Amino acid sequence: MGLFNRLFGETTDKTPEAPETEEKATEKTYEETLSKTSQSFGERMNSFLANFRSVDEEFFESLEETLITSDVGVALASEITEDLRQEARLSNAKTPEALRSLIVEKLVDRFGDETLDTTLSDVTPLTVILFIGVNGVGKTTTIGKLAHRYQKAGKKVLLAAADTFRAGAISQLQEWGKRSNVPVVAGPEGSDPASVAYDAIKRAQDEGVDVLLVDTAGRLQNKDNLMKELEKISRILSRECPEAPHEVLLALDATTGQNAVQQAKEFSAVTPITGVILTKLDGSARGGIILQIIQNLKIPVKLVGTGEKIEDLADFDSEAFIKGLVKDLL
Ligand code: GDP
Repeated sequence: MGLFNRLFGETTDKTPEAPETEEKATEKTYEETLSKTSQSFGERMNSFLANFRSVDEEFFESLEETLITSDVGVALASEITEDLRQEARLSNAKTPEALRSLIVEKLVDRFGDETLDTTLSDVTPLTVILFIGVNGVGKTTTIGKLAHRYQKAGKKVLLAAADTFRAGAISQLQEWGKRSNVPVVAGPEGSDPASVAYDAIKRAQDEGVDVLLVDTAGRLQNKDNLMKELEKISRILSRECPEAPHEVLLALDATTGQNAVQQAKEFSAVTPITGVILTKLDGSARGGIILQIIQNLKIPVKLVGTGEKIEDLADFDSEAFIKGLVKDLL
């Protein structure tokens, strides 16, 4: 059974609904976080459907365009349109309304086909997570939120301020450390980030830390330097702890839309990425870019930022996401 039927299909299962479950709570968070995206997606698609009386070539061209402007991505938009052309012919659909749920079904099912692992590594004795991303995307905030989450779960956490390049980055991380009562390893501004990483992993091992979160300077402008710097940090980490870093997470700002997709492409050319954190999804109408990141770039989205507060971080839940996205269309 396709994802669409599972999420939206009629159910013959009469077992009573479970009380307020974790799943329901996740759906609610996603619905709220995605409200701007789903509203804009819904409006675009609804006004497109209202614009046509019949299903002709112009209809399909406009559908493809609407999907592209909804950040679905060119490749996925044209695949879905082609599928629909055929299905419309087969089912002899004459009106746009007859295709409404089919459009959603195609989108949802395509999305459900992707099987990327969205879970974060969790290894003992020590999990090391490296954070990359350009300034302002919400990298430090996410590290702070994650530190808080691990701390609350009873894990021993350590932060490493290996973004020694940007003025203020070190003190910003120290500020987050204070907020969740997590220590921060730092060096002077302008010092070698790899030496901060070295000090941090040594301390993590000496003190029996469970999770080490390493901030880095995401200077995409100078790719050679960035690559060298990340390689050096990774080399030092893995010398001390063979599998480290266990995760390399790229933070992207959802409000920047196609720019975020472009950054994902450029960063993945510089370093292997194990996952994306899509921040500011709450303030963005462009959450549809998740489809592109997953479908085209084949990078799993692992975390999403759902607000500015310390608790506003959610694991990526693909079903809750797609449900929230198409909410205004059905
Ligand atoms: P960095 O330069 O990548 O470390 O970015 P910061 O962590 O300093 O964040 C930049 C701004 O984005 C700050 O004002 C944060 O409060 C804000 N921000 C980060 N994550 C989120 C989020 O998920 N939702 C919202 N609404 N704002 C966020």
